[in-house]
Amino acid sequence: MKIAVIGAGYVGLVTGACFADFGHEVRCIDTDPRKVEALRQGRVPIYEPGLADLITTNAAADRLYFDMDLAWGVQDADAVFIAVGTPSRRGDGHADLRYVYDAARAIATELRGYTVVVTKSTVPVGTGDEVERLIREVRPDADFAVASNPEFLREGAAIGDFKRPDRIVIGTTDPRAREVMAEIYRPLFLNQAPIMFTDRRTSELTKYAANAFLATKITFINEMADLCERAGANVQDVARGMGLDNRIGSKFLHAGPGFGGSCFPKDVSALIKTGQDYGVPGRIIEAVAHVNEQRKRAMGRKIIQATGGDVRGRTVALLGLTFKPNTDDMRDAPSIAITRALQDAGATIRAFDPVGMDQARQVLDGITFCADAYETVTGADAVAVVTEWDAFRALDLPRMRGLMHTPVLVDLHNVYNPADVEKSGFSYTGIGRGHTG
Ligand code: NAD
Repeated sequence: MKIAVIGAGYVGLVTGACFADFGHEVRCIDTDPRKVEALRQGRVPIYEPGLADLITTNAAADRLYFDMDLAWGVQDADAVFIAVGTPSRRGDGHADLRYVYDAARAIATELRGYTVVVTKSTVPVGTGDEVERLIREVRPDADFAVASNPEFLREGAAIGDFKRPDRIVIGTTDPRAREVMAEIYRPLFLNQAPIMFTDRRTSELTKYAANAFLATKITFINEMADLCERAGANVQDVARGMGLDNRIGSKFLHAGPGFGGSCFPKDVSALIKTGQDYGVPGRIIEAVAHVNEQRKRAMGRKIIQATGGDVRGRTVALLGLTFKPNTDDMRDAPSIAITRALQDAGATIRAFDPVGMDQARQVLDGITFCADAYETVTGADAVAVVTEWDAFRALDLPRMRGLMHTPVLVDLHNVYNPADVEKSGFSYTGIGRGHTG
């Protein structure tokens, strides 16, 4: 199959590279000249484990191309995947669909022969109808179908998720589009990946429902963690006891500083707006968004409390800045709200992230970026593990204690055993570990 992917970001690049690896011919189109130039020279502008190798191999095999010329990408394609960003619209929290609609109009003029236009971007229910209308308006003669195929990959594990998905959801009632999509994903049928065909609106809504449910699960266990702290219980055991129930499952029950990232916050917000527009307010997800928003800054207060209640003139070391490990993505990372809360209280911040430093520099002001964990904690009055990178799971605690001004450790992901940390001379604060014995 010949495939065009519009938008070479996290999703577009992984989608393009994996489709090429299946044996399809893929043309990835992006409007950012620096991104396209870098990709052509074999430099991958984002950090995603395994992606650089996959791109190099498939580009060398003449199956994967990068260009700014959308006409060249689209004209021979059997399917055109729209994988541009759908951020929150400034001011009201709706999904900002301008990139999707711009791409749809640009695609419309270049269509030749039957083409399936696929929204891979996360888009609110009904967006496919509008994409179809826009294309029809520009090209009343075009032979095309618009399908929805939401992406469920996780940054940091994107290639594995794309190649071994829990499911593939395809929203189209057009038999020819179904055939094209089935052919594109055929290599995954062989891996027995469940492919679910449904109508377009159902497919669009499924993506939001899934993300909002996962965000709810995280927020639920975070609230239980707060209760554990007050009530003298251990949230990790509560989560384990809950998760062993097959109806609940153990995933996404890890208490922490609140969810962030490029998807959950904006998708929860967009689903809230969709519900309101349809006169069906989503009270549960409204509460999830509110509770999570409060929580990030509250983690700053937690660090202040652990440091003795006043951080004015004191130094706090933050380990990990990205919204989760194995990505350089800083979008809506809890570290941003935590840093601001600490700075507002008068603290000096030192910080280190194994991969996200370049991105972090663009969104965080007035902090000292360090070369590694030990340099970061030097002279600090407290250290907080903000992102649970593997590199922070086995720190040399005695060495750290020797470097710090005051040995205070705040573990926002419960990666340490409190007794071990205390044995090394630290005072320890975790999440939801209120049990006394
Ligand atoms: P991104 O911001 O990393 O990439 C989007 C890319 O599209 C950018 O490189 C931009 O230059 C390009 N672009 C914008 N307009 C364009 C146009 N008209 N023509 C060509 N290129 C254009 O975004 P992302 O993280 O890859 O997300 C893309 C979509 O996938 C979003 O809807 C997101 O919600 C969804 N999604 C993301 C993830 C994730 O983990 N990042 C997972 C599942 C779904």
